[in-house]
Amino acid sequence: MDMKTRSHHYVVCVKQVPDTKQVTGNAMRPDGTINRAALPAIFNPEDRSALEAALRVRDVCGGTVSVVTMGLPAAAAILRESLFSGADDAYLVTDRRAAASDTLATSYILSCAVARLKPDLVFCGRQAIDGDTAQVGPQIAEKLGFALVTYVEELEVRGEYAFATRNLGDGVERVRTALPALLTVTSGFGELRPFNFRRVMTFKNAEPTVWSLDDIGADPARCGRAGSPTNVAKVQSVVLAGGDYREFTPDADGVGALVASLVQDHTLG
Ligand SMILES: Cc1cc2nc3c(=O)[nH]c(=O)nc-3n(C[C@H](O)[C@H](O)[C@H](O)COP(=O)(O)OP(=O)(O)OC[C@H]3O[C@@H](n4cnc5c(N)ncnc54)[C@H](O)[C@@H]3O)c2cc1C
Repeated sequence: MDMKTRSHHYVVCVKQVPDTKQVTGNAMRPDGTINRAALPAIFNPEDRSALEAALRVRDVCGGTVSVVTMGLPAAAAILRESLFSGADDAYLVTDRRAAASDTLATSYILSCAVARLKPDLVFCGRQAIDGDTAQVGPQIAEKLGFALVTYVEELEVRGEYAFATRNLGDGVERVRTALPALLTVTSGFGELRPFNFRRVMTFKNAEPTVWSLDDIGADPARCGRAGSPTNVAKVQSVVLAGGDYREFTPDADGVGALVASLVQDHTLG
């Protein structure tokens, strides 16, 4: 097939997360793990933008968009929502042996699943609002040996290259990468398009393809608690309280005294 017209496979990693805007006193268990039952489950916001990015590229270039999640069977809800918005197919990796995976194990499991789909471009959200580490996307890229572009908020795919704009906070960077590549997408890319009514009717009872660890060829020793070196030693609620304050005069002497005080308490120097 002609390289310019070869249609690409876009794979989007989407995660179902507890809605951390609704945190109440019982959101954490005494052992420091999240009490997921206490919070409503939602589609991770930046994964919605990642899916929109993939759909926009497909609108222009053609190709196929697949969504993948690792989670409990209930996570099929966000896969169905993805189908309602335009994804072509959906995969759920669910297995008891994957429970309590940290980012290392999660990215290993997802990399095994994604590799099965032979993608040209993988999309992740920048960060999930529960774990909040922003590690999973880069770790999947590393495991797949794909180029990595983070903080993407604009994207164009031409032939075998992706052209992305990265938001660096105090400026933007335009980069070009050869495919295959993995992009982490920020909410700056834009909101996921609304459900398409006809697709809702078509997919309302759709079930994703369900994969176990065996189906994706994952080594159980690298999954779940067995494959997770992260240990949460303690979870603490930090309450900022007012403390002592000192006032400095708004003149050269005051600034000198402020700097001296910052050096003395090792904030500077
Ligand atoms: C201190 C701490 C405590 C934790 N406690 C628990 C707990 O009690 N229970 C528990 O279940 N987990 C817990 N984990 C979370 C578990 O490690 C993460 O859910 C998982 O590894 C993903 O990391 P993250 O949420 O930081 O994702 P990030 O690295 O922020 O996610 C980036 C992107 O990767 C993709 N991605 C991430 N995870 C998935 C997924 N599962 N499926 C598809 N795509 C995905 C998405 O595109 C996402 O936007 C904890 C993590 C930490 C750091």
